[in-house]
Amino acid sequence: MNYDVIIIGAGPGGIFSAYELTKLRPDLKIAVFEAGNPLHKRKCPIDGDKIKSCINCKHCSIMSGFGGAGAFSDGKYNITNDFGGTLYEYIGKKTAMDLMYYVDDINMQFGGEGTRLYSTAGSKFKKICMQNDLHLLDASVRHLGTDVNYVVLENLFNHLKDKADFFFDSAVEHVKAENDGYTLVCKDKTYTCKYCVISVGRSGSKWMEQVCHEMNIPTQSNRVDIGVRVEIPAEIFSHLTDELYESKIVYRTPKYGDKVRTFCMNPKGEVVSENTNGIVTVNGHSYEDPKKQTGNTNFALLVSKHFSEPFKDSTGYAESIARLSNMLGGGVMVQRFGDLIRGQRSTEKRIEEGFTTPTMSATPGDLSLVLPKRLLDGIIEMIYALDKIAPGMANDDTLLYGVEVKFYNMEVEVDQNLECCHKGLYVIGDGSGITHSLSHASASGVHVARNIAQK
Ligand SMILES: Cc1cc2nc3c(=O)[nH]c(=O)nc-3n(C[C@H](O)[C@H](O)[C@H](O)COP(=O)(O)OP(=O)(O)OC[C@H]3O[C@@H](n4cnc5c(N)ncnc54)[C@H](O)[C@@H]3O)c2cc1C
Repeated sequence: MNYDVIIIGAGPGGIFSAYELTKLRPDLKIAVFEAGNPLHKRKCPIDGDKIKSCINCKHCSIMSGFGGAGAFSDGKYNITNDFGGTLYEYIGKKTAMDLMYYVDDINMQFGGEGTRLYSTAGSKFKKICMQNDLHLLDASVRHLGTDVNYVVLENLFNHLKDKADFFFDSAVEHVKAENDGYTLVCKDKTYTCKYCVISVGRSGSKWMEQVCHEMNIPTQSNRVDIGVRVEIPAEIFSHLTDELYESKIVYRTPKYGDKVRTFCMNPKGEVVSENTNGIVTVNGHSYEDPKKQTGNTNFALLVSKHFSEPFKDSTGYAESIARLSNMLGGGVMVQRFGDLIRGQRSTEKRIEEGFTTPTMSATPGDLSLVLPKRLLDGIIEMIYALDKIAPGMANDDTLLYGVEVKFYNMEVEVDQNLECCHKGLYVIGDGSGITHSLSHASASGVHVARNIAQK
């Protein structure tokens, strides 16, 4: 065997597996294979000037490389079982929470100290939301910010680089089960290991499907969340964001009974695009450093869809919607709320004349030509509901970027150790379909590392 353990993917799941394994078992030979680049070489070419939209790089620097999809994220570590994944269903609620706090401690040791931990506990907003038929979910959230998050990752890499072998620009193409371990096939070489941890995130979703198919690992379809990213002047939400930083609010629409929720709130942040398997969607982040902050707050409004019978492909459905928006907008599209309500497309002129200046260059257009009526109606109803707790939310100049899609990987069948039907093969993080967040993905990494170390 070349290695005792090989970890595929250097996102939060892979990094925390490597961290815990090298700590508990420094005697083991460990390697990490990553399709993307080392952290310092990750650079998205979009500069808003010469390159305005996604040019489909070989590896998307936003999604791939050391730090995974989380590297340029807002670094919001939500410590909760209420959202961010269903890890607790496998390992228990208390273990999941303990692991998330453990990850928080490590982040603090590696450069995050001094950042704030916000909490919904005892917040007056719970009552105010309920009085307006909105529901605030419970969580503590550590906001590292994109800048501090980067420092933590740099420090973690420096700590790990002499303890494990890192292979960058090294996508694993196939995994093969052998008598006593696994063979990993890369472009021009193969490697063997006794234990293998797969942590390939959302960008590895297609590859994960292929591996499950080739190795007969059972899977189940997952839901998909579709919607828009809202951008408003920071003042409109400041009473909530100052106290809670992120508020996860859920609303059941009267018309269809669908659940719409706020997601990934970025006070004084900026809107960005992301590329998943060639499809450009929208996201957001914000910095901890006040000098890098903007005057706007952004967050997603998402509607969940899960198809089961006879159509099962929730991801394919969302991909089609995202492709349609890419076709009409050449990438991400933006529309003023007032234009959407009046049934007219936004134009460069209307956006320029608006009082809210977009933080991302997107193509002005008409989201009603992209989003199905049921989803769009739900989003509009939620905007009016939020306007009651944050007046100004439903202003004409509120910007809506489309589309935002949260693709969840199909759920891979694993046991309480996150081990699949092949002994010694673990599937963790967002690639498993079980986690959808930095804290849950990282916690799953620590969990498998402890299991392997024990064995
Ligand atoms: C812009 C943005 C902002 C976000 N903000 C937040 C936030 O504030 N809070 C939060 O909780 N979550 C946030 N998220 C989501 C969060 O980043 C993910 O939930 C988290 O990174 C998942 O970790 P992971 O290790 O499972 O996967 P990933 O971080 O996706 O890492 C997987 C890694 O595997 C690599 N890989 C894929 N296939 C292969 C292969 N075949 N061989 C080798 N390597 C491979 C990829 O290149 C990637 O680097 C954000 C995401 C984005 C894109």
